Amino acid sequence: RPVDLTKLINERIREVPDYPKPGVIFKDISPLLADHTAFAAVVDAIVAYYGRGTIDKVVGIEARGFILAAPVAYHFGAGFVPVRKKGKLPAATYTESYDLEYGSETIEMHQDALAPGEQVLIVDDVLATGGTAAAATDLVRRSGAEVAGLSVLIELGFLKGRDRLPDLDVHALIQG
Ligand code: AMP
Repeated sequence: RPVDLTKLINERIREVPDYPKPGVIFKDISPLLADHTAFAAVVDAIVAYYGRGTIDKVVGIEARGFILAAPVAYHFGAGFVPVRKKGKLPAATYTESYDLEYGSETIEMHQDALAPGEQVLIVDDVLATGGTAAAATDLVRRSGAEVAGLSVLIELGFLKGRDRLPDLDVHALIQG
């Protein structure tokens, strides 16, 4: 019996209204991660979309992106590279800042994490405004590597994040 991946995912995303602030509906992936069948199906779907052997490094965005990116990297036979919030990485970093609705955010990646020409897949849980993904893309490109694509579990299409990433292959497993 074929598995309906969209249904499998949708039924395991908990929507938490007004978290972390009023007006935001937080997409909590914890129930999905706790279900081994759904977790494995998500990882397999991301790997199958790009295909084994096409990706050299998988970049995971702190913190929930790490959880998805690490098993994806393993199944690609690729390495894993963390993109972290400012101040968490110990060695020399590239840094990118971007605006949030209120304030700003800064993310970093080690300067020696990627080699020029490497094919890189960026992975995160949710694509919202696209600010995080755009900054992560800039980090990867500064190292001379190539962004093969962005894989997210959930795309919040109404926020038009995809429009901020015009030259990127954006692969979303479900729309939220
Ligand atoms: P953005 O930069 O606006 O695309 O936001 C993406 C980042 O914020 C991702 O790392 C997500 O984990 C997180 N995020 C944004 N909106 C949500 C949401 N509604 N539910 C869960 N996480 C979110």
